[in-house]
Amino acid sequence: MKPTLIVANWKMNKLSKDAHEFALKIISQVKILKNMEIVLCPPFTLLHELKITLMGCPVKIGSQDAFYEKAGAFTGEISAGMLKDAGCEYVLIGHSERRQYFHETDDIVNKKIIAVIEAGLKPIMCIGEMLEHRKADRTFEIIDTQIKAGLKSLSGENLKELSVAYEPVWAIGTGINATPEQAEEVHAFIRVAVERDFSLSDIRILYGGSVTEANSKSLLAKKNIDGLLVGGASLDADRFAKIIRN
Ligand code: PEP
Repeated sequence: MKPTLIVANWKMNKLSKDAHEFALKIISQVKILKNMEIVLCPPFTLLHELKITLMGCPVKIGSQDAFYEKAGAFTGEISAGMLKDAGCEYVLIGHSERRQYFHETDDIVNKKIIAVIEAGLKPIMCIGEMLEHRKADRTFEIIDTQIKAGLKSLSGENLKELSVAYEPVWAIGTGINATPEQAEEVHAFIRVAVERDFSLSDIRILYGGSVTEANSKSLLAKKNIDGLLVGGASLDADRFAKIIRN
């Protein structure tokens, strides 16, 4: 069984001084990780600072996105190979904010996942329904479509290192988390879908959406919740350390 995966998504927050102080606090509070992997996904500008400060510490670094081309005239973009070079091990792909504000389609998500795998990095594919989908009883249909399209043309062998983050859009940054039961129901559906359609039997399925130190334990107690993707609560080192200790 793979270790529990706890991922911090800092979004567009923090400067180098903040990242340095955060990393020092985490180092002092998280010395040994037993059966657990911790990944910090800062903005691109802070990858180097975290890589240097976390050297020798088991906490890993990841990126919030990657472009699908390897190199060339794509002003403002960062390739998966560049992220590997910067010390990343994981890459978030298809976060709902990328889908919503930067018009990322399932097709783009698919190209990015392929590029991340080709660069030898581990993709975390984010999927989730909007509130209107849930109200219309379309959650499973949306999730199924996002999985099939996001992983199109990939097979079990090259998806060995894939993780999926279930992030209901209505729970992200709203303070309203899915209940452990609501999340577990969708996670169990994802587990069956990736096994049936992509022969994946041991991927980690993370929950994301208003995770805090108060609800992390009950979410992780569910059979199909293998980790957490934490936004707001990961900006504060003490709160994030509490989630890890939980
Ligand atoms: C996220 O950014 O992936 C997220 C889940 O944010 P929050 O924890 O703030 O809801």
